[in-house]
Amino acid sequence: MLKRIGQFIGLLVLLALVLVAVVVVRTMTFGKSNDANRMELPSVPEFSSDEIATHLSDILQLPTITLTAGDPRPGQEGPWIELRDYLQTTYPAFNAVAERHLVAEHTILYGWQGSDTSLDPILLMAHQDVVPINLGTEDQWDAPPFAGIVQDGYVYGRGTVDNKTSLITIMEAAEALAASGYQPTRSIWIMFGHDEEVSGSGAQAGVDFFQERDIRMEMVLDEGYFIVDPFPLTGSSTGVIGIAEKGYVTIRLTSTAQGGHSSTPPRNSANVQLSRALVALDEQQMPADFSRPPMSEMISSVAADMPFMTRMAFANQWLFRPMIEDQFAADGASNAMIRTTTAPTMISGSIKENVLPQNSYALVNFRIHPNDSVETVLAHVRDVISDIDGVTADVDQSGGIGSEASPVSPTENRAYQVLASVASDAGGGVPAVPALVLGATDSRWTTEISDNIYRFAPGVLPIGDLQGFHGTNERISVDNLERMARGYAQIMVAMSSE
Ligand SMILES: [Zn+2]
Repeated sequence: MLKRIGQFIGLLVLLALVLVAVVVVRTMTFGKSNDANRMELPSVPEFSSDEIATHLSDILQLPTITLTAGDPRPGQEGPWIELRDYLQTTYPAFNAVAERHLVAEHTILYGWQGSDTSLDPILLMAHQDVVPINLGTEDQWDAPPFAGIVQDGYVYGRGTVDNKTSLITIMEAAEALAASGYQPTRSIWIMFGHDEEVSGSGAQAGVDFFQERDIRMEMVLDEGYFIVDPFPLTGSSTGVIGIAEKGYVTIRLTSTAQGGHSSTPPRNSANVQLSRALVALDEQQMPADFSRPPMSEMISSVAADMPFMTRMAFANQWLFRPMIEDQFAADGASNAMIRTTTAPTMISGSIKENVLPQNSYALVNFRIHPNDSVETVLAHVRDVISDIDGVTADVDQSGGIGSEASPVSPTENRAYQVLASVASDAGGGVPAVPALVLGATDSRWTTEISDNIYRFAPGVLPIGDLQGFHGTNERISVDNLERMARGYAQIMVAMSSE
């Protein structure tokens, strides 16, 4: 008997050792090396952060604020006109080699023709408009938001992070290259949308312009991520390159029940049914999927740079998957990375406090993960509420019919390799990671003209400064200006000289 127990314990120990061995081996061999994505970058002209700071300061003082679709309204175009005139006079060498087109009145396109017109061009994008300042927060800024103040090593102002620094450093890069006599082989296009924050009609018109001319882009580069310091998965500075962005749909829940006087209420009135539906949707979130890009790409490409325990968990999802999912789901931003999010935003019911409504409504906004679609979101909602009486779900048409998530751009091509190398160079040897962009950018319109769409700017952003995005105290460090101009120049030359 004792011998049997001894054998049994021996077997258990053996199994445990095998399990540990499997976990460790899987951990050690997990993911791909970042070095595969590094290439030697071309040399580019020198840039001066102080000079760029002056130019950035100048355009930050132009309040190109958009509030609603259709902006700028007639009579309010002044800042947009001043901005494009400023770009004409400040960058003479580039203007001498490039042709400028205006589309949708205020969206600026520059085309710098390459020597080999049989090659598909590249397109670099930024947007001219900015969001307003939240009322009552002006005094929480270290410097006023529309004064272009440079102090303590930072440029302050609405638009520094989103997105005028990209706009100005793309121009600096193009100007320096043109002034140095550089001649691209592959054509370079630049597009500065005028209304990204409200509708993106300018970028849409820009894409129409390219389609009318049968122009496809070898690469599109727009805003999205930066070199983020520290990136949560690696715990250190990492170049984050957006390879996809989420879609958007709002579902209207309609709850119908007997209305009437609140003195004789039935059980399960319209508002109660509606509440049940909202609670059910909150409890049954859309599923997460780590097995497909962009998540699978993101995880495997930073595996080598993860702390051991994190890497072990990802390498052994068969064992640790529930734990990983809980960790991601615990934080709003990381939860949004892994699934389509569910956000009940508007509710309306009765118009009087003593009247029961016959119909009540809720709007639930979903940000669609590339794993899902408008159709699967609607099917999920209908499934979740199927056993709740009186509630129906439809796509809400008031904000448009919704937009699908973007396709996922590849990471096994020259464009990605160039961006990963520029990120590494700009960040002092940091790894690069492909990721999902949680908001919408103007690049969403370009899926018709390119398969290789990336969302990244070669600046280093401390994670705290990300709060400036549409928030208070938006700023960018002065040393980023030289870094970004150099990065954009490297991208132009590496992509356009072959
Ligand atoms: Zn933006």
